Amino acid sequence: MTAIPQERRLVTAVPGPKSQELQARRTAAVAGGVGSVLPVFAARADGGILEDVDGNRLIDFGSGIAVTSVGASAEAVVRRASAQLADFTHTCFMVTPYEGYVEVCERLAEVTPGDHAKKSALFNSGAEAVENAVKIARSYTKRQAVVVFDHGYHGRTNLTMALTAKNMPYKNGFGPFAPEVYRVPVAYGYRWPTGPENCGPEASAQAIDQISKQIGADNVAAIIIEPVLGEGGFIEPAKGFLPALAKFAKDNGIVFVADEIQSGFCRTGQWFACEDEGVVPDLITTAKGIAGGLPLAAVTGRAEIMDAAHSGGLGGTYGGNPVACAAALGAIETMRELDLAAKARRIETVMKGRLAALREKYDLIGDVRGRGAMIAIELVKNRETKEPAPEATAALAKACHAAGLLVLTCGTYGNVLRFLPPLVIGEDLLNEGLDIIEQALATV
Ligand SMILES: *Cc1c(COP(=O)(O)O)cnc(C)c1O
Repeated sequence: MTAIPQERRLVTAVPGPKSQELQARRTAAVAGGVGSVLPVFAARADGGILEDVDGNRLIDFGSGIAVTSVGASAEAVVRRASAQLADFTHTCFMVTPYEGYVEVCERLAEVTPGDHAKKSALFNSGAEAVENAVKIARSYTKRQAVVVFDHGYHGRTNLTMALTAKNMPYKNGFGPFAPEVYRVPVAYGYRWPTGPENCGPEASAQAIDQISKQIGADNVAAIIIEPVLGEGGFIEPAKGFLPALAKFAKDNGIVFVADEIQSGFCRTGQWFACEDEGVVPDLITTAKGIAGGLPLAAVTGRAEIMDAAHSGGLGGTYGGNPVACAAALGAIETMRELDLAAKARRIETVMKGRLAALREKYDLIGDVRGRGAMIAIELVKNRETKEPAPEATAALAKACHAAGLLVLTCGTYGNVLRFLPPLVIGEDLLNEGLDIIEQALATV
């Protein structure tokens, strides 16, 4: 563990000279299609601080995209992963298994919603987990169609590109995409034509009508939804939407899949975001926050569904790597010991209180939303028309970066500033980050 002083410190411009030097090497050696939010090269990170190679300490409101919820060098993660590294790095679970993999699956059965018999399979990335959820659902139902939603994001592999809504940057020029994928409306309260109060029932009726009339419920293997949509703009589907779709799936023999890759593992103030409305998914995909920064992903769900695929049909050389499993056990232990779900709820209280006050002051902020430590502001040019303000969003992010606060943007219209602090961030840093956002708002 690195024990970095938990204070913001700027000793050069951001990016500093060493980062700029590395950026030149990067430009020469790394493919242009791989982007970075901020050309600041990391040296160490933990708690709420990311220290760069020039010695600047940035406040981290990104967590490497909702990954380092327990911190980027959490004690239990480093201890367990280091011990595992010294014992063995790999055997391939499909060749000779090891206990860590089994133990992670046992923990997943405990922390995911529902008290039915559950099983899991482990993979390397979120996209791989989603792909495997589709394989499992198709095996189980003997059907092919997959239903996804407007503004949804599920990854960058061929099938998950097809599942993802937004063209640029995720899909443009990368087709043809996988067939039998159908997109239906989602309950985006802020932009629902008849208002947020009507959104849940109207959007679910529309989605169900489209599925029934255009695809046919009997052809649908899976409905896949993020219980809080991440890349699409931190959209919480309006109340009633998720339960209505889960019920429709149940009534029609469709596997209901919650993609909790971004929203899971205490991020929204509960172990999983679907718990908010008591929805128990048939399958749940997880990754990001699961292993304190090491690459690991999982599909967890009803034992009879998980067992539908034939032996050898699921897996991968590295899936459930022993070091990543050890890290996951450390991360889950940390979440339990520090009650990080409660920490996330506290972060929501602090953030939403201050952001709501800023919304009163600045017309640019059209909406403040999200749950736990998954909070966002949606920026608009005009509160009546809700015309998106992507330029102001980019300028705001840039001003925050220059002041030493790492923030990310998202949203189909590129007009959402999102905040994903590590759940272990100190409240002083949290407030200092909000001060920076306030100052940045005054300048754009
Ligand atoms: C990040 C993300 C994915 C893809 O995960 P990768 O590990 O990048 O493949 C899928 N679904 C959601 C909801 C995500 O946020």
